[in-house]
Amino acid sequence: MEFETRAIHAGQDPEPTTGAVTVPIFATSTYAQSAPGKHAGYEYSRTDNPTRHALAEALASLEGGAGSIVTSSGMAATSLIGWSLKPGDHVVIPDDAYGGTYRFFARVLARHGIEFTAADLTTAAGLQAALRPNTEIVWTETPTNPLLRISDIAVLSEITHEAGAALVVDNTFATPYLQQPLALGADLVVHSTTKYMGGHSDVVGGAIVAADLEVLEGLKFLENATGPVAGPFDAFLVLRGIKTLGVRMDRHSFNALMVARFLAADPRVERVIYPGLPSHPHHELAARQMKGFGGMVSFIPKGGPEKAASVSMNTELFFLAESLGGVESLIEIPSAMTHMSVIGTALEVPADLVRLSVGIEHIDDLISDLDRALGSP
Ligand SMILES: *Cc1c(COP(=O)(O)O)cnc(C)c1O
Repeated sequence: MEFETRAIHAGQDPEPTTGAVTVPIFATSTYAQSAPGKHAGYEYSRTDNPTRHALAEALASLEGGAGSIVTSSGMAATSLIGWSLKPGDHVVIPDDAYGGTYRFFARVLARHGIEFTAADLTTAAGLQAALRPNTEIVWTETPTNPLLRISDIAVLSEITHEAGAALVVDNTFATPYLQQPLALGADLVVHSTTKYMGGHSDVVGGAIVAADLEVLEGLKFLENATGPVAGPFDAFLVLRGIKTLGVRMDRHSFNALMVARFLAADPRVERVIYPGLPSHPHHELAARQMKGFGGMVSFIPKGGPEKAASVSMNTELFFLAESLGGVESLIEIPSAMTHMSVIGTALEVPADLVRLSVGIEHIDDLISDLDRALGSP
């Protein structure tokens, strides 16, 4: 079955007792057993819950993995993978990783003797220089946040495997509709389902999808042992979100391309960063690796940080807010908002950079809104 069909059907058969076509919210912590230790597959909801289970099946299908783990946030998914490391291990992360990912490795795992290197993963040489004999995980994000740099998953996976390490891809920005990291050789995919997978800015959630069953079993053990699981209501919201993922991503990608072209042609704008523009340094790789270029656009208006701040305060449809990936458009200044934690590090982003999460409103309204907010030159 094709992607759009699996998004609606994988793991989501009608509920057997009532025929409900939507997976119910199984709000229960425990399950009656017919004899001690004899049950229908569920014993306690930290271990498994039918609503969460349905979402896990659907996500595994969409990413083409052996199985998946549904967590209470994207960071819970990241930290669950962190539990699989031990003191003395080394991790490579991108030098413009999601701020929270950087903070987790730099300020949490580092205290437990797990070393990390932030490297430029857009080139093979960047990864090769960062690898050490004790490297266990290479962690990449593509496109990155907020600079939208693209790394070559197939190339990174080959180098990572030669070094005896595992490749983790944070697929939050692209989603499995636009990009399939496991098919390109990655071992694990991580998601913040808070973003495009949920898609309506009404839930915080995360997931890990594993290519290999044995790796999945190890993570399932850690899931049950550490407990970062999503509740059934949150799992339900993400399940509802993924049903429309394909149509939403098509519209996000179309609107973002139109916004990027508008900004690129505007004399009030210094620079536009969007993988779908031929001016993007990794445009060809993005076109090869992705089915579309996604809904995120970053740009630098002329006039410095003050102008950037003023644009962000003067849009009406683009809400000034953190997060991304919902149906509504958002605007933010990463250096003052989402990326405060990386100021003074290698991951610092320009103070005049504006990040847009382009929603699925009508494109004409979005462009008028930006046009107005850019004001006089
Ligand atoms: C938001 C985000 C995360 C963290 O996810 P939460 O759901 O906020 O915990 C991780 N990676 C990327 C790329 C993100 O955008």
